Amino acid sequence: MNPHDPALLSVLELSPVWLPRGSSAALQPAVAEAAPTQLEPIATPEPRLQTTPAPVAEIAAPATTPAAPARPLNNAAARGLADALAAARGRARPVEDGPPASAEAPAATVAAPVAAPSAWAHLDWEPLAEQVRDCRACGLCQSRTQTVFGVGDRKAEWLIVGEAPGAEEDRRGEPFVGPAGQLLDNMLAALQLTRGENVYIANVLKCRPPANRDPQPDEVQACSQYLQRQVELLQPRVILALGRFAANTLLQSESSIAALRGKVHHYQQIPLIVSYHPAYLLRNLPDKAKSWQDLLLARRTWLGHKNPPAQA
Ligand code: URA
Repeated sequence: MNPHDPALLSVLELSPVWLPRGSSAALQPAVAEAAPTQLEPIATPEPRLQTTPAPVAEIAAPATTPAAPARPLNNAAARGLADALAAARGRARPVEDGPPASAEAPAATVAAPVAAPSAWAHLDWEPLAEQVRDCRACGLCQSRTQTVFGVGDRKAEWLIVGEAPGAEEDRRGEPFVGPAGQLLDNMLAALQLTRGENVYIANVLKCRPPANRDPQPDEVQACSQYLQRQVELLQPRVILALGRFAANTLLQSESSIAALRGKVHHYQQIPLIVSYHPAYLLRNLPDKAKSWQDLLLARRTWLGHKNPPAQA
């Protein structure tokens, strides 16, 4: 795949914003994939999709044989995450950016946190979905229209994790169906992926926080094991954590997106790549180029995991 293929860039809505520096002539894929620094922003058009900021997102673990079981968030970790997020949000939005991770450097591999089996380790997909449907573990059950369990291929190799349902998701019961979801679909298309085919999409929270406010630590605490079980059941080859909230919940970190992206992390021994939340990208168009680098890293990771080098 040539990441500068105009068709791909167009579907990701990058082409109006980014062009290869110096020439529009076809670049060698190796060069093209090298780094956002080789891409030059030339304009900042209005986003085709207008949106209000949507949430960001979240968690997971192994399925049949939980060799390295997952650790649920404890209260202190959840509080730490909330504090970190609150501190970050104290700065003017956007909060997701920082010094860009170097996409030129080979992707570092980061050690995974240890985890305990999920509370729902005995549940298959349908009973788990039913459990979520009936969940009253936190106050969000009082304001939701319905729960948003997740959607897609339950044998998918890709798992996309977001933050929490927004208004449209709450209404339709499906993750990422609002404006951010349309961008996510375009991002998937750029990777030659389609929602529902080899892709599963879930959020950290299964219920919409009122007025799209930030998820609270007790809500994450109550909900995160559902995601964990979804990961256990799915056993994806790669997880793409979109946004600070999803990344920090899954990795139990308090780091910025800038610090987390450009590396291969692990959740339950499954490679995890961090990138910007599509809702953030809708407000910060130039960061789409960095997002594209993240998607390419995810794709390379997926390919490498799918086709590991032969043992000598
Ligand atoms: N943002 C998310 O994180 N998840 C959704 O499902 C929708 C918007």
